[in-house]
This record gives sequence, C-alpha cells and structure tokens, in this order.
Amino acid sequence: MPIHSPWRADFPGILALEAEGQIYLDNAATAQKPQIMLDALLGYYASGAANVHRAQHLPGERATRAFEATRVKVAQWLNAETSEQIVLTRGATEAFNLLAYGLEDRFQPGDEVAISALEHHANLLPWQQLALRRGLELVVLPLDAAGTIDLQQAAQLIGPRTKLLAVSQLSNVLGRWQPLEQLLRLAAAQGAITVVDGAQGVVHGRHDMQALACDFYICSSHKLYGPDGVGVLYSRAEALRQLRHWQFGGEMVAQADYRSAQFRPAPLGFEAGTPPVSGVIALGASLDYLGSLDGAAVTEHEAALHAKLLAGLAARDGVRLVGTPEVALASFVVDGVHNADLAHLLTEQGIAVRAGHHCAMPLMQRLGLAGAIRVSLGLYNDESDLQRLFAGLDKALELLR
Ligand code: PLP
Repeated sequence: MPIHSPWRADFPGILALEAEGQIYLDNAATAQKPQIMLDALLGYYASGAANVHRAQHLPGERATRAFEATRVKVAQWLNAETSEQIVLTRGATEAFNLLAYGLEDRFQPGDEVAISALEHHANLLPWQQLALRRGLELVVLPLDAAGTIDLQQAAQLIGPRTKLLAVSQLSNVLGRWQPLEQLLRLAAAQGAITVVDGAQGVVHGRHDMQALACDFYICSSHKLYGPDGVGVLYSRAEALRQLRHWQFGGEMVAQADYRSAQFRPAPLGFEAGTPPVSGVIALGASLDYLGSLDGAAVTEHEAALHAKLLAGLAARDGVRLVGTPEVALASFVVDGVHNADLAHLLTEQGIAVRAGHHCAMPLMQRLGLAGAIRVSLGLYNDESDLQRLFAGLDKALELLR
C-alpha cells in the first residue's frame, strides 16, 4: 500500500502546486500552510486591522487579545512556565541577533563561545561577529562520522573559559538529532549560558523546555507551518534577566525624555516597534491546527516516508548520503555530477528540492563538498511525491552521466 498523507488536503499550497505539476520537497527551508492559518491571516485584515498593546479601541483590543493568545499557545507548545518567557521576534535569525547583542556585556576579552561544526549561518555569524567585537574565542565542536557533535571532544573543549554554548537541536543539512542533554550538562557544569537552535527540531515532535533546561531556545514560525516574519525566543526566567535591551523604539519603553529612557522588561521590552501582528495571530492558528493532529501518527507517517526516501537513494548508483539522517530529510551528492546541474534538471521536471550550501558554508567546507541536494519532507508529503522524485532523479542522472 503506498503511503498517503491524511493531512494533504488541509494545505491549499500543496494542492495548488500539484495542480501546476509541481511537487514540494523543500520543507526544511519553509513549509506550506494549513487553510486554518490562511483564514486567520485574512480574518485579521478582513475584520479590521489594528496595532497591538497601545490602542483602547475595539479593533486594537481584539488584535492585542489574539496576539497575546498566540504567546500563550507558544508557551504551552514548548511547555514554558509562563508566557512572559516567550519573546516574539521577526524571525529566528533576529532572535539569534537579539541574543548576541543582548548578552554582549556578559563577556570579557578571551572568553570562549562554543558552537558546533554543523551550525546554520544564523547560529554562527551572530556569535562570530560578537567574538570579533569583544575579542572572544570562537570554539568549534567537531562532529563524528555520522554527523553528531562528538561528545568526547566536546568534553575536552568545553571548559572554564566557555561562557556560552550555542548548538543546533537538529541539523538542517545532516538531519541528525544532537546530544543536547549531554552538551547542556557540560556547559552548565562550567556556568556557561546555553542557546539551542530549534529551527529544525521544533518541527518534529514536541519539546519540553522545562525538561531540556537550556537558557534560550529559538525557532521560526514559517518552518512550523506558520507564516513567515515571526520567530520565537524562549528564555529561562533567570536567563531572561541577563539580557540587555537591543532594539529601541515604540512600545518597548516604560518612560522616556529627551536625554534618557527606561525600558520595559521582557517580553515587550524586546519587541520594539510594531510587531508582525497578522503573522503572530496566524501562528496561533497553525499551532491550533498542529495541536489537533495525532502527533504520534504524524511522526509515524514521516518516519515511514523517510525510510522510503533513504532506501530509494541507497538503491541508486553513485548517490552518496551526506551524514546519516535520522529524520525528515536527506542531503546527498552524486559522484561525477554537480549538485547545481542536478537541481536544475529536477526543477525542470517540477521537483522542488534545495541545492547548494544550505546556509552552512563552513560545514560544507569541512565535508569537502561544493554543495549537496537536500530533499526534506513535510507532513503532507506522500509516496507519490517520492515516486516522482525518483523518476525525475533517474531521468536527470541519465542525462548527466
Ligand atoms: N537554524 C536552522 C537550523 C535553520 O535551518 C534555519 C533556517 O533555515 C535558521 C536557523 C534560520 O531561520 P530563519 O531563516 O527562519 O530566520
């Protein structure tokens, strides 16, 4: 029996692409949206848009209530203790930059910031630039052959000079869960601040912030079947108090005169200016949708599809997986074929996959690769998508070899 997704019909974008002859296998870059989210987005505008947290009038009050309801839903999704621990940013990338500026005065020249070799640029460049500004040492934790952060080497490299550890929960290139628990324990033993990049991990399964015990966890809405332009920064209550304000403007201020100002505490103190009101409200609808699904069934569906994806790739001559992915995606190269040429021929056949460095150039350099093709799955993909992928791959490889 071919694998079908019972949720496919909930995603008009997937159906529209299908009607155009396209299949979408680039979900780790961004996911399609459920109808309920589109309804919420349109509903906010169609029923009268208003700014949040400032107006007394009915539309303003309605928008503020819906906006704050999403904050509560995000807190529940992540099992934060309170919704005050959730700062809503304009994307995951903005949240990393918020931390790199907000924590800046916690560091002295010579302090170390540890990241891993597999980080997305969003969890590399803000720390790299902070290190350059403050004279810090950026320590890069190496990987083992499967694509997991090497714990033995991490134990050597995380030491008394480590002031911050920032690592990914699930690699966007290698598709492997990282040993967060052990890494966080190593960092905590040194009193280091801990940051987890949950941009990919949050999409697969539910993650309990109180159990995870990191200081900060970052993810973005658009990969979680929500709108783009919204990111989430979860902070442990004590960690939140260490953050310095970083963007200045309307609504984040408690009191201002021409010469000085006092700022609000989190979360509003870190949400300067008009926030992405419609997007935040629509993210709430996506979470409602995801919360209504049988999570175990989604995981099972994705796992079954992933197994077929890996088997199909393994069956093809010259196709080499990059790492040993555990979930939702597979990056690969083909001996003697440039990834951009292959991606081009797949695109011509209506197959949307990602090619290139996947915003992880240093990882690609370490792996000795110019780039790779990445196929990433969403809950609406089914076996017919994989059949199209493999047929397209065979045809492209026949032309290229
Ligand atoms: N971290 C990882 C692992 C990612 O895959 C991405 C996006 O691809 C990001 C961070 C950055 O997320 P955004 O582009 O939504 O800011």
